Amino acid sequence: MTNCVFCKIIAGQIPSTKVCEDQQTFAFMDIGQVNPGHVLVAVKPHVENIFGLDDDLAAAVFRTTARVAKAVHAAFLPQGMSVYQANGPAAGQTVFHLHIHVVPRWEADGMNLTWPVKNPPRERIEEYAVKIRAVL
Ligand code: AMP
Ligand code: ZN
Repeated sequence: MTNCVFCKIIAGQIPSTKVCEDQQTFAFMDIGQVNPGHVLVAVKPHVENIFGLDDDLAAAVFRTTARVAKAVHAAFLPQGMSVYQANGPAAGQTVFHLHIHVVPRWEADGMNLTWPVKNPPRERIEEYAVKIRAVL
């Protein structure tokens, strides 16, 4: 896609710090570095978000993510590792070309995702599952 910053990175039209690539994926250092070793794993074709992934590309991007996460773990020995992926502005996506964040984590490193649990009754949870199963 002409105006997509990640398409330009993958095509080598703008600089990036590459970690690895294969036929379907491209991993490079996030310019913001939430923690040292923060890597982005992007798909090579311009796919905006998770809803545009076919099974093959979904498998490829998670295979690379697991590979990169293991390498970041071995290189930085963090206390934890967050794997994060946003779809749409409401979810915090700012670059609309599918990518997965691999972020090494340390206690009290300031990266906080609030998790506002609602703990609904089991019958309500079952209703939610029925809706999802109906369209799977
Ligand atoms: P998201 O909010 O999940 O869409 O994340 C977009 C990420 O892309 C942010 O963490 C940015 O720091 C990162 N980013 C944006 N432009 C570049 C770039 N030119 N090179 C590397 N990372 C970038
Ligand atoms: Zn793109």
